Amino acid sequence: MNYERIKEKLEILADAAKYDVSCSSSGSKRANKNKGLGDSSGMGICHSYTEDGRCVSLLKILLTNVCIFDCAYCVTRKSNDIKRAAFTVQEVVDLTINFYRRNYIEGLFLSSGIFKSPDATMERLIRVAKKLRLEENFNGYIHLKSIPGASDELMQEAGLYADRLSVNIEIPTKAGLKLLAPDKDHKDFIQPMKAVQKSIHIYKSEKKLIKSTPIYAPAGQSTQMIVGATGESDRDIMYSANFFYNKFEMKRVYYSGYIPVADDSRLPAIGTEVPMMRENRLYQTDWLLRFYGFDVREILNDTHQNLDMDIDPKLSWALRNLDQFPIDINRADKLMLARVPGIGMKSVGKILSARRFRKLNWEHLKAIGISMNRSKYFIICDSKEFESRDLTGSKIKNLIMINSTSKYHKNFNNQLNLFA
Ligand code: SF4
Repeated sequence: MNYERIKEKLEILADAAKYDVSCSSSGSKRANKNKGLGDSSGMGICHSYTEDGRCVSLLKILLTNVCIFDCAYCVTRKSNDIKRAAFTVQEVVDLTINFYRRNYIEGLFLSSGIFKSPDATMERLIRVAKKLRLEENFNGYIHLKSIPGASDELMQEAGLYADRLSVNIEIPTKAGLKLLAPDKDHKDFIQPMKAVQKSIHIYKSEKKLIKSTPIYAPAGQSTQMIVGATGESDRDIMYSANFFYNKFEMKRVYYSGYIPVADDSRLPAIGTEVPMMRENRLYQTDWLLRFYGFDVREILNDTHQNLDMDIDPKLSWALRNLDQFPIDINRADKLMLARVPGIGMKSVGKILSARRFRKLNWEHLKAIGISMNRSKYFIICDSKEFESRDLTGSKIKNLIMINSTSKYHKNFNNQLNLFA
């Protein structure tokens, strides 16, 4: 093995992979078997090889950064004048095993530029995973990117060796995709997603009848959308995410703030700040949809197309729906409790348990750990004192922001007007 050349390839192909944030490995339960290498179960790892701190303990690389496509937002696009490299299948296998043995990594996140054709690329990605599983007896986590346009047969095979599969939609709307990635067709993303979803169902139901049926993609599938490359509103992005969750049973949708990599009039100029706060607000909204029972249309709609940057989406929703408050903490149902700003799902559980034994007052609620600064404007409890109910939404927002210790406080426009 030419170590210098491998090192050079690793530098190029790990750097090119850093733009993909969809590398969480939670959800997989592949246990170590046959005294093999690694055990992806229960680690909840979400790390990578990159230097930007997003992930650190998966080997996160591209098989190659050669690509026949020219997506404007991508550093790997064919028209970009960069150093190109390609690993062989055996090189990726050897690197994974060597890094694993040295405890550098717990798994592999493997993506690729599209060389030759989607099927040729997908087939090579599968060969890596297959070799690791069958020849090296590797039971660590493997996340394979699905190549848009790959055939159903290959997608079906990929899930037999990978824990998670993901095909990145990248641009949330068809119009944006057409503008920035004219070589790609929306259906090239949809078809692999459909194929994976179908296989997950088939293998699951077969496993119920025949125990020896292999597990197919136990950590399911995910996708990623770039935020801020095109003019999509937060509503467009979250409606798209909602579609993928509902239609294809995605385990996760990831939101990745666009890092300007191209001098292109269709894109934000190089040097434009990465929209990290927007990314964070989208993740919070995603959380509300998946765990708090919100419908996306309650949070984003025709009259509210973008998320507030200075306050979180739950507080924003509550301030726009003051007619639904205050709620009685001793009587409200679980879903309504979860809608109170400052009360998370853990606290909801604690409130429901505690109120079986006594009526809860402010002291009890403080002891449970709810954020009083936020919640006190939206609840009543078994106490005489309560916050004045004649406050407007903007007054409540100002009061909360003044007393907030949140790291995002600085985002609040300091025109605090208590009498607004
Ligand atoms: S197909 Fe993928 S790797 Fe190739 S230019 Fe487009 S986004 Fe980049």
